[in-house]
Amino acid sequence: MIVADASALADPDNVLLCSDTVSSQTAEMNAAMTSGRVADEQYYADPTVAGLERRVADLLGHEAALFLPSGTMCNLIATLLHIRPGGDELVAHRLSHILSSEAGGHAQLAGAVAAPVDSASGIPQGTFTADQLAALVRPLSRYGPRTRMVALEQTVNQAGGRVWPLDQMRAVVERARAHGLRTHLDGARLWNAAVATGTEPAAYGGLFDTVWVDFSKGLGCPGGACLAGPAELLEEGWRYKQMLGGASRQAAGMQAAAAAYALDHHVERLAEDHRRATQLAEELVRLPGVELVPDRLDTNIALLEVPDAHALGHKLAEAGVVIDVRSATRIRCVTHLDVTDEKLARAVDAFTSELT
Ligand SMILES: *Cc1c(COP(=O)(O)O)cnc(C)c1O
Repeated sequence: MIVADASALADPDNVLLCSDTVSSQTAEMNAAMTSGRVADEQYYADPTVAGLERRVADLLGHEAALFLPSGTMCNLIATLLHIRPGGDELVAHRLSHILSSEAGGHAQLAGAVAAPVDSASGIPQGTFTADQLAALVRPLSRYGPRTRMVALEQTVNQAGGRVWPLDQMRAVVERARAHGLRTHLDGARLWNAAVATGTEPAAYGGLFDTVWVDFSKGLGCPGGACLAGPAELLEEGWRYKQMLGGASRQAAGMQAAAAAYALDHHVERLAEDHRRATQLAEELVRLPGVELVPDRLDTNIALLEVPDAHALGHKLAEAGVVIDVRSATRIRCVTHLDVTDEKLARAVDAFTSELT
């Protein structure tokens, strides 16, 4: 929850640590968005959308990709493609975006029964093991839901941007296949995982039946996401895009141009966001009562325990620093394109004067 006024998010002088969706596009990205030739994507006519889809399919190790207005719609359409009518079950982590933050679309629109998993001890928060998955797969019977789909998230947002280790991910997907399950990866921050670990996005994405990536998070675009998978399946996906009102006509071409620009210029630099998040966490844990949870930071999201999160959120907002208040004692700080070293230093100063 953002405790500041909405207007605080539109003030370019503020330090916006509440999310990586809030960055504003650079002048160069704006130029890229308006310089291309756009056409109506509902007629499959936009060359920029088509080029982006081809490029993302290749980057993710898949046959085809489908440009969509948001990551939420990617998760929903993938769920619609994998879940059949009649009581099919979707296994995902309890903290996952698909179960916790998409207004229950998996249930309301795809008819999925949710099977939430918690992390076993000794593995990264927000992940689970192949054995945990296998324990949830129900034997076929007339009585129970049919376990049909498993969805993973890379990185795990609500676990502080934790990276699923590749081997653990592969083991889960292999076990899912052995049980005949469909597999899906929410790659809202797959770019962050790839940069943080030096792993090709396709090494993660290629494991799954479907995978998507976001352009509106760390890549700094005004919107847009791509769902990748088998071409035939995504043809069916186009029907759902149409059904949900997700075909964006000429706007898609402008968003795709921003995304192509971001793939050229904003992927490698995610390492800077990771460095700054670590630096911020290191500075903040020195303050009284502040603790990093989990105690390790993989990418660009710092989850911190603080004595009084709501009061802190309000005080920081007055000082022009906007954070995400998750609970009475938990805050989230996210670094992105607009959080420069100078802004980071201002944030540390504001925290220091509030907490000491
Ligand atoms: C932001 C996010 C989404 C949704 O993406 P939008 O493009 O904002 O709809 C899905 N999953 C995760 C993990 C996210 O962080």
